Amino acid sequence: MNYTIEGYNALVERLLELSVAYYDNDAPLVSDFEYDRMNNELKAMEAAHPEWIRPDSPTQHVGGHVSEAFAPVDHEVPLESLQDVFSFEEVTAFVERMDGAVEAPHDYVTEPKIDGLSVAVEYRGGRFFRGATRGNGEVGEDVTENLRTIRSLPKTLKNAPERIIVRGEVYMSHETFQTINARREVEGQPLLANPRNAAAGSLRQQDPAVCAQRMLDVIFFNVQLAEGARYESHYASLEAMAAMGLPVVAHTLCKTPKDCTDAIAAIGEGRENYPFDIDGAVVKLNDLAQRQTLGSTAKYPRWAVAYKYPPEKKPSRVVDILIQVGRTGVLTPKAVIEPIRLAGTTVTNATLHNQDFIENMGVNVGDTVLVQKAGEIIPEVLEVVKKDSEGFFRFPASCPVCGAPVVRDEDGAAIRCTGAECPAQRLRNIVHFASKDAMDIDGLGPAVVAALDRAGLIKTPAELYYLDAQSVAAVDRMGKKSAENLIANLEESKGRGLGRLLCAFGIRQVGAKAARVLARNFASLDELMAAGEERLTQIDDVGPITAKYLTDWFASEQSQHQIRLLREAGVSFDSREEIADTRFAGKIFVLTGTLERFTRSEAEAVIERFGGKASGSVSKKTSYVLAGANPGSKLAKAEALGVPVISEEDFAKLIEE
Ligand code: NAD
Repeated sequence: MNYTIEGYNALVERLLELSVAYYDNDAPLVSDFEYDRMNNELKAMEAAHPEWIRPDSPTQHVGGHVSEAFAPVDHEVPLESLQDVFSFEEVTAFVERMDGAVEAPHDYVTEPKIDGLSVAVEYRGGRFFRGATRGNGEVGEDVTENLRTIRSLPKTLKNAPERIIVRGEVYMSHETFQTINARREVEGQPLLANPRNAAAGSLRQQDPAVCAQRMLDVIFFNVQLAEGARYESHYASLEAMAAMGLPVVAHTLCKTPKDCTDAIAAIGEGRENYPFDIDGAVVKLNDLAQRQTLGSTAKYPRWAVAYKYPPEKKPSRVVDILIQVGRTGVLTPKAVIEPIRLAGTTVTNATLHNQDFIENMGVNVGDTVLVQKAGEIIPEVLEVVKKDSEGFFRFPASCPVCGAPVVRDEDGAAIRCTGAECPAQRLRNIVHFASKDAMDIDGLGPAVVAALDRAGLIKTPAELYYLDAQSVAAVDRMGKKSAENLIANLEESKGRGLGRLLCAFGIRQVGAKAARVLARNFASLDELMAAGEERLTQIDDVGPITAKYLTDWFASEQSQHQIRLLREAGVSFDSREEIADTRFAGKIFVLTGTLERFTRSEAEAVIERFGGKASGSVSKKTSYVLAGANPGSKLAKAEALGVPVISEEDFAKLIEE
């Protein structure tokens, strides 16, 4: 392989960035499978070029940092990571290596590798004393109060040694994960990405009450340190933990490499029976004295390996292709397939990503495709293995939910619904409409919007202005006072003006800044709506794409309906933006002839926007005569008086400058 040091450095940087997202922010940017693939490539580079190895390389230390939001806890026994392997051959090689390194007799323990967050929990005198995250392996974060909220964590132990530190994995059960996400969906909150990151994010909450609501669980897999007890083997220590009342990971005693790989295969087949996700199986040398002799590298113990299951792939027939509309309006195609068992679950549908993906693969209903499920990732269609249909599936031209036209992002493969009243996007649209940068409606956050929606009081943003205090007061947890406040805040927001209103519409590429720029160039919404694409593109910061998004949005029936409702409710369409740019202050323009790029009223509006005046007749006071095609007598008069005459191009330049 021809590696370069630039390539090496770039890969280290990328992996560090992914690690921060995963460990510190609990929000991974790529799948674990993808991360492991890159990490393996890094290992291969480092094996070929040991002189390149950077001390901050992810291969040289345990991932994760210690957040200053928590008190640090020094781990008396480091919380190490595990050496990954990806094939049974590597597991066999590990066992054979151990067989050669330590004296017989010895055996192994094989356990599922729970995909959660590692913690060290200390009990003193049989009572829960303290608990910390893994952090960087040497120092962790004190999460004692959050751990206290976990019901499966015993607060007292039976017949425990005087002092014991146990290591375990905090996880969110599948059931809890689904319950919480179902609730968040309704409340319009972002969904938790997967149980692992949900668990990590919850355990690292500042407020234990929030952690308590996440209903986490814990399961233990190691005795880190015990004062007042001695265990000969790992297996015995697991049994002792169970006898003390701690929930303990399933553990199988193995003697030969075949025993180990059989146990791994059995764990893989039975993974659906666990309440948690597993991301592998761990094979550990059983004898604790032998482990001591072998010791650890900077990152891993030498006496254990983690086997990572390959993403499982199976063929199935596509029985339908459905288009789902997400909260942001993106249309996502989903293949409905004949049910198959994959990675411990029954899979009945798989993502097809987007139109390009479908086209490249040439897939349509009736074809047999290969489906893959990698870890917690949504199953995906990989390729067509048997073609039984004609051509490929095409996206509809209109939104399957609301019928509004769909448009493709200029800068990507996503296809979006443009409906201002699309039910699939309504919660998000209303929350956005009320947000700080938009109409800034106090007391109208996601939870209240969700409650109003549940009560059937609003379906679109404009309907907010038709709410009455009495119906709002009857909504869950609202009450009379907050209902009255909300109505008053809504009333007040009617006067926010064009800039904020434009931002509130949520038109693509028209965020707070672009909305302000537009509001500076038009006196009212009606003036803006009357401007054509060409006129819009003459504004700084408004490119042809944004101009098109704007005109399309205003042309749509649903938008027109929203505008009508807003107008009738008395929402101000006038610009409140200060004219920051007064480049034409004191200047008087006279227009003559036919303009091509502007209508006369558009040109006059621009002149006024910039602080100038448009006049009907030429005099000595006239600053410029703007002459289009076939100018009349005004041109001759200007020339006679020595008034500068400018063309439409000159005028456009004056505006653009
Ligand atoms: P690891 O794979 O090295 O495994 C060590 C962890 O396994 C320990 O912290 C321990 O808590 C846990 N564990 C669960 N059950 C266990 C058992 N029975 N015995 C022993 N340990 C058990 O974990 P790591 O070092 O935290 O990180 C590597 C993992 O994180 C990989 O799976 C990688 O894909 C993932 N990762 C993903 C991203 C991403 O962007 N998606 C980024 C960084 C890391």
